[in-house]
Amino acid sequence: MELSQIKGVGPNRLKAFHAAGISSLRDLLYAVPVKYRNVGQIVEIADAQVGTQCTLQVLREGEAKLIRHGRKCQVTCTFTDDSGAITACWFNQPWMKETLNRQTRFTFHGLVDVFGRRKRLMNPSIETELRIVPSYKPIEGVPQKTHEAIVRQALEEVHSLCPETLPQEILDKHGLVGCAWAIRALHAPSSMEEIAQAQKRFAFEQMLLYQAAVRMVRDVRRAGTVLDFADPALDEYWQSLPFAPTGAQKRTLEEIAHDLRGERAMARMVQGDVGSGKTAVAMGAMLLCVQSGHQCALMAPTEILARQHYEGMKDYFEKRGYGCELLISGMPAKQRRDTLARLESGESRVAIGTHALISKGVIYQDLALCITDEQHRFGVAQRTALINKGADEAHAPHLLVMSATPIPRSLALVMFGDLDISIMDELPPGRLPVTTRIVSEEKREGMYGFLRSELDAGRQAYIVCPLVEESETGDDLKSAKAYADELTDGPLSGYTVGLTYGSQPAADKQEALRAFAAGEMQVLVATTVIEVGVNVPNASLMIIEDAERYGLAQLHQLRGRVGRGTAQSWCFLMARPNDRLKTLVKTNDGFEVARADLEQRGPGELLGTRQHGDAMIPGGAAAYGSMQLLYEASQCAEELQMNPEKADVWQQIVHQAAVLVAKLSDRVSIS
Ligand code: ADP
Ligand code: MG
Repeated sequence: MELSQIKGVGPNRLKAFHAAGISSLRDLLYAVPVKYRNVGQIVEIADAQVGTQCTLQVLREGEAKLIRHGRKCQVTCTFTDDSGAITACWFNQPWMKETLNRQTRFTFHGLVDVFGRRKRLMNPSIETELRIVPSYKPIEGVPQKTHEAIVRQALEEVHSLCPETLPQEILDKHGLVGCAWAIRALHAPSSMEEIAQAQKRFAFEQMLLYQAAVRMVRDVRRAGTVLDFADPALDEYWQSLPFAPTGAQKRTLEEIAHDLRGERAMARMVQGDVGSGKTAVAMGAMLLCVQSGHQCALMAPTEILARQHYEGMKDYFEKRGYGCELLISGMPAKQRRDTLARLESGESRVAIGTHALISKGVIYQDLALCITDEQHRFGVAQRTALINKGADEAHAPHLLVMSATPIPRSLALVMFGDLDISIMDELPPGRLPVTTRIVSEEKREGMYGFLRSELDAGRQAYIVCPLVEESETGDDLKSAKAYADELTDGPLSGYTVGLTYGSQPAADKQEALRAFAAGEMQVLVATTVIEVGVNVPNASLMIIEDAERYGLAQLHQLRGRVGRGTAQSWCFLMARPNDRLKTLVKTNDGFEVARADLEQRGPGELLGTRQHGDAMIPGGAAAYGSMQLLYEASQCAEELQMNPEKADVWQQIVHQAAVLVAKLSDRVSIS
């Protein structure tokens, strides 16, 4: 059967599915729901736990009311059951008033929170069936119910559409369910338990393929360009900087230099805590490369960071006679053409930029060294894509990965087994550790007082807000815009406050950061765009709103933006105290923080698979895996690879891994 033959799929819907990357029934089945609402269990109002998603069966008391505030609005109404009453609220859904007033009996599903001292139901959905309801990533023109009905038809052929991809013995040994069973369970679960089993199966599969890919890449490491530089080059480099290197910086650059002179292409990851001075190490490696007559590229995850590196390095290289280019997307056509020409001819030796560095049409004359900064989330596929820019069958450029998320060594071996690892576990001298405090709402005014005294002393501060627009659900997330206004009208009146956020036009973003770095503004209100790499040493204070919404590693990254100068720095986490956040109060050691984070969230994030859904395994499966599962997968790969009797099974898995890596790295290099 074809997708077009399914009842309910006409030409328009077919087009919509295609646009969403679904072009076959198999794709349809592999595009599993992104979340579920467990509407199965009805609880009484009195038993509804604050902070949980609940299903309530209730009667409407009185009429629903609509209140408007400016462009925003809120519908509220009270409902009862035998155990009590509860108010429900819908933000920015004015039509709910009509809907509610049309009938009296409702089944609601939604989050129970507290407002004042009373329980409240937030933006609940009206349910008609008691079951686990899947929700799919929205596709325009295909309502959720229709999507589900279409999937149900395809499920009739799940066994032929989704043949088993793992050998039975692996399923048995690790207690995993079959592929078709798991796909069915994800689309039409009869219990949460089934969903968990299915997720575990795909998480394991993804981790196993990842392990196979790591081993594959490691085994075929290609020849590199043997770089030729004199021994004193390293010392000369360190002497050319305004500061003396730390022991860790020196050691790491020596390890890199050793690799660069070797026959095999370097594949090394530098793991260093925020502020450990990785940039200086990267620049040293770049200098060694250009001094030996070759080209190098430094790739950063954001434009801000790419520009910052470019600004910081351009003069250094150009003074020494090496042309230096910035390559980002959205450059004026002529400028881009000229830049590309200088890289292709070899006139420029240093390329600094974003993903644009590996986009189609970028040709290097002689790329011998690739460095990625802050790309700890990059997986094997991305590394492969980057290397391929300067590689042929036999040769590959040297690769240096600068990671900002230090992770425990045992995990590093599992995850980055294809890379050698240098650890920078030392901060430049004279740094005072950032003092971190959890600040509850009652202490807010006091904190602003402290902020003002720091600003008066000539320091600068970041204030981090999670979202730009007030969230639709209407909860009290501070929007960066509204918050910046609130600050300038209130506690920070008379101080200069700037603003930057993710969707801001690049030029404005750049201007905001420039002005902040130049000391022209005292406070920068920002979303997490400043998470990586931004370096403004005079900034000594950071306030993070809604801190509990972030992972520990991300908070540690954010806090790493302060404590870069010699002043005592502060990080205030706005939140109710909890054990998770206390980890950050207790330690400034990124390795410690990472360990705690991994324990709490599992390794999915680090495996970097979340953002790369791929049609070989249901989207982001690894996110559901635990550390334990990752070690199991690693163990399994090890056993298969080492056991000659299992050669055919291993080959099959390596083959799948290769297809996956090729697919993903293709996608990466095009984007
Ligand atoms: P990260 O490892 O987080 O990328 P950076 O490379 O941005 O850290 O370095 C942070 C700051 O420390 C920069 O301002 C840099 O100039 C400074 N720095 C780096 N190495 C040293 C050193 N050995 N001594 C003093 N300051 C240093
Ligand atoms: Mg850095």
